[in-house]
Amino acid sequence: MSSMEKYIVIIGGVISGVGKGVAAASIGKIFKEYGYSVTAIKIDPYINYDAGTLRPTEHGEVWVTYDGGEIDQDLGNYERFLEIPIPRRNNITTGQIYSSIIERERRGKYLGETVQFIPHVPDEIKKRIREAGKGYDISIIEIGGTVGDYENIPFLFAVKGMERELGKENVCYVLITFLPVPDHIGEMKTKPTQQAIKLLQENGIIPDIILCRGHKPLDMIRKKKIETYANIKSEYVISAPDIQVLYEVPLNFEKEKLGDKLLEKLELPSRKMPDWKEWRRLVTRIKKPKGKVRIGIIGKYLKIGDYSLKDSYISINEALIHAGARLATEVDIEWLNSDSITSKQLSRLDGILVPGGFGEKGIDGKIVAIRYAREHDIPFLGLCLGMQLSVVEYARNVLSMDADSTEFNPHTKIPVVDILPYQRELLKEDRYGGTMRLGAYAAYIKEGSLVHKLYERRFKRDMAISLEPERRGKVIPDIKYVVEKHRHRYEISPDFVPTLEKGGMLFSGFHQPLNGPRLMEFVELSDNRFFVATQAHPEFTSSLTFPAPLFVGFIEAIGKS
Ligand code: GLN
Repeated sequence: MSSMEKYIVIIGGVISGVGKGVAAASIGKIFKEYGYSVTAIKIDPYINYDAGTLRPTEHGEVWVTYDGGEIDQDLGNYERFLEIPIPRRNNITTGQIYSSIIERERRGKYLGETVQFIPHVPDEIKKRIREAGKGYDISIIEIGGTVGDYENIPFLFAVKGMERELGKENVCYVLITFLPVPDHIGEMKTKPTQQAIKLLQENGIIPDIILCRGHKPLDMIRKKKIETYANIKSEYVISAPDIQVLYEVPLNFEKEKLGDKLLEKLELPSRKMPDWKEWRRLVTRIKKPKGKVRIGIIGKYLKIGDYSLKDSYISINEALIHAGARLATEVDIEWLNSDSITSKQLSRLDGILVPGGFGEKGIDGKIVAIRYAREHDIPFLGLCLGMQLSVVEYARNVLSMDADSTEFNPHTKIPVVDILPYQRELLKEDRYGGTMRLGAYAAYIKEGSLVHKLYERRFKRDMAISLEPERRGKVIPDIKYVVEKHRHRYEISPDFVPTLEKGGMLFSGFHQPLNGPRLMEFVELSDNRFFVATQAHPEFTSSLTFPAPLFVGFIEAIGKS
């Protein structure tokens, strides 16, 4: 096939937070349905190099890529919709741009030239965009923030430059605006959209498509108004009202024939008839479930200003929705604060999930919740910190060991969860950014275990993922492995695994590093209906059509009670 290089640039107008990421992911999904290969790039105009050191309460969840990047959560939407690994380089920040320019300047690579905003900054941006898009027919580029922000000017300048260099038919702009309905007027107002179009035009960019977000659909009168005042044909003004289910967005866009319109702008034919049958079926199952389960997520990011807790756990939320869609079950989530958990709250739950986390705040409450799940045989799923604590809890309350994790108790005599020696060295040097065990690792799964049964559908897909040698680990023939993403510093201490195993914990999966002892990846308790925990973050590999096996098993086990 000819090497195609087409870009769709998604820009926000009016306000942020109206679903630009989901719109970008949905547009990508639509192009896939028309037979094109698609990738997606997120531009974050902040100066942080990446999202790794951002507080979850500052910027929502940190998304982890297969290749070990800690990046913006929008990339999670891209992976969930496009179902391809999106590498870390697809998240471009102002910090990265300046850092590489300055580094190059220090190495004398500009040969005495004055290094300036123009052309060096837009050139670096273009280079990174084109590298990220290499090998794909179409790249979706989402520019963070809103048109008019100072910090996204260089990026707008860069994409305008790409339009000039590659030709207009290869770069298409989609502006996402918001149309408010002020209470006292009760009418949908188009003025902010008109102003956003004007601001964009100041950067030399004329939007090809305007996606109009709003609480209600946009009527023809308003579409015409935008046509008249902004000189954009009304057929390219698309209504994007609020929806109940995220995964309806591409279906709604298609109702407005967005795919056809974008293909026309990019001068591309449709390569195949889109087939939305399976996608639509799953969306319907989310909207009209047959049963309902109540899951408690024992978290600690509650009540920090007005911040919505859900955003810190967005991928867990989505993974539960995916599993629910598979089983036609509504998953009702109770966000419970681990600082103040009570038995009464726990007794109302059908399932208990302890997610990942850092630091000692709220640890005791999480241990109380795990103990409750274990003793009352309530289905339990532990993720990362959730697995570490399930081991601490078992060691303490079943095996009567005075156990702890050195993360909370550095001088504990029985460190069942501990930091590996090489990681300790990094911490001593205060190297917190990017020093964790990050990204995808292969985990061998023990035959006969529940985890093995749950992952049956994934072995083929996971074993085909190409991994660097240290992520793949030492090759052990004849044992099947899965690939899951990681983000942690501590591990179940290999020194205590034999004791824990003898005491009844089944470690059903492990990573075998090229050097060093096996690292425990999965643990389960066979006497319970469903008590499974993992050192990985399976929520980062879940999608609507390929739900995470542990989440499906968890919800299914509840249904069987
Ligand atoms: N704090 C733990 C560690 O660093 C767990 C991290 C997590 O849950 N993501 O190992």
